[in-house]
Amino acid sequence: MSNNTPPIGPKYKRIVLKLSGEVLAGPGGCGIDPDQAETIAAKIKTVYDLGVQVGMVIGAGNLWRGARGVAQGMEQATADHMGMIATVMNGLALQDALERIGVPTRVQTALQMNQVAEPYIRLRAIRHMEKGRVVIIAGGTGNPYFTTDTAAALRAMEINADVIIKGTQVDGVYTDDPKVNLSATRFDHLTYSQAIEYRVRVMDLTAITLCMDNKMPLIVLNIWDDRSLFDAVLGHPVGTLIDAD
Ligand code: UDP
Repeated sequence: MSNNTPPIGPKYKRIVLKLSGEVLAGPGGCGIDPDQAETIAAKIKTVYDLGVQVGMVIGAGNLWRGARGVAQGMEQATADHMGMIATVMNGLALQDALERIGVPTRVQTALQMNQVAEPYIRLRAIRHMEKGRVVIIAGGTGNPYFTTDTAAALRAMEINADVIIKGTQVDGVYTDDPKVNLSATRFDHLTYSQAIEYRVRVMDLTAITLCMDNKMPLIVLNIWDDRSLFDAVLGHPVGTLIDAD
């Protein structure tokens, strides 16, 4: 091998993968479909097998969102607590799917549920990843009025991740909704300020601002594309990169 050959291996050694709860939903768009969990687990295994340390933050839109309860007159804190609890169910479904294909995992949660998951402890989460366990960080931030996007940004900072990868149903950030506006074009790159200015809907403003303040790069990609997660981790241009440059 010549000295000029670029090193083969992942560009990002430790990632936080943020997935919305909808990735686990069955055909009707709600609930938990173990087949979907299996498909996602197989994708995670491809990067796990590269030696990448994986922390995951999972949402709960497939089960419950606080806003739904608020729209029907519920107290927001109560409705949000229900949402955070729902993320733990999704976390357990992912854990089960990963363990079944031989990927060791731990579920940690910001809301204490000692019988089913460890409490979220930053240094312990890091230690698990160093020991080759995928850590599924559930329970959001543990606080109502936040989202799991913000939890992903917060946890990425706390565990010194190299990047946040947000897996969605669309292959990046577009100038407009590509499902409605067929002439919408995809951004390969955005700065944090542009993402805030354009009010991109793919990640909430609190999360993007947190990433900006801490220079945490963010990649938005289609999680259902065959190789998108794998390629992104290797550093190939995939989806939309949001960073400071
Ligand atoms: N949630 C919360 N605090 C958090 C994270 C989540 O209160 O730190 C609640 C909130 O009600 C939210 C629900 O949990 O609607 C599910 O999270 P999210 O909407 O982020 O799920 P996703 O859209 O990613 O599936």
